[in-house]
Amino acid sequence: MKWRFADVPDHEGFAAPMLPNGELLLSAGAFTDAFIGCQAACSCGWIDRRRFPATPEGAKNAEYQWLSRHIPSLLAAAPPRELVIKSTLLCEQTMKLAAERPLAALSLLSQVEAWQRALLNQAAAQAREIGASWAEIGETMGISKQAAHERFKAHVNT
Ligand SMILES: [Zn+2]
Repeated sequence: MKWRFADVPDHEGFAAPMLPNGELLLSAGAFTDAFIGCQAACSCGWIDRRRFPATPEGAKNAEYQWLSRHIPSLLAAAPPRELVIKSTLLCEQTMKLAAERPLAALSLLSQVEAWQRALLNQAAAQAREIGASWAEIGETMGISKQAAHERFKAHVNT
C-alpha cells in the first residue's frame, strides 16, 4: 500500500520490506515470512532509519514515521493546492489572451510582474527570518544556494 498526502503530490510513502541480509526492497508490496522487518520510505528516496516488524501493525507504524518525520518539512515548502491550480489557470488564460490580444496580455503581465517581484523579496526575507538556509530557499525555487543569495541579499538582513 502507498501513502499519499494531498499538498505534496510528488511524494508516495510506503513500508519498504527488509530481507534477512538487511537489504531494503524499495517498493511497496505484500509482506511474507521472507521479510525480517520494514522501514518507512518515500518515492523521493527518503528512508527512515527506524525498523518495524513486517506486519500490518509494523506498516502502520512506518506510515506514521513517514507522516510525522518526512511530510512536515515538505509541507513547509509546498504551496496550497488551490493556489497552484489558480496559478496554472492564470498562466493558461494569459497565454490565450497573449494570442488574441497581446497588448492586453502585456498590461496584465506588467501588473503581475510588479507584485510578484515584491512578494518574492518579501517571502525570501521572511524565510530567512524564520531560519531557512540559502540552500533551502534555492531548492524551493529550483536554483542554487549561491543564486538565491545573490538574488535576495539586498532584501534580507542576513
Ligand atoms: Zn518524499
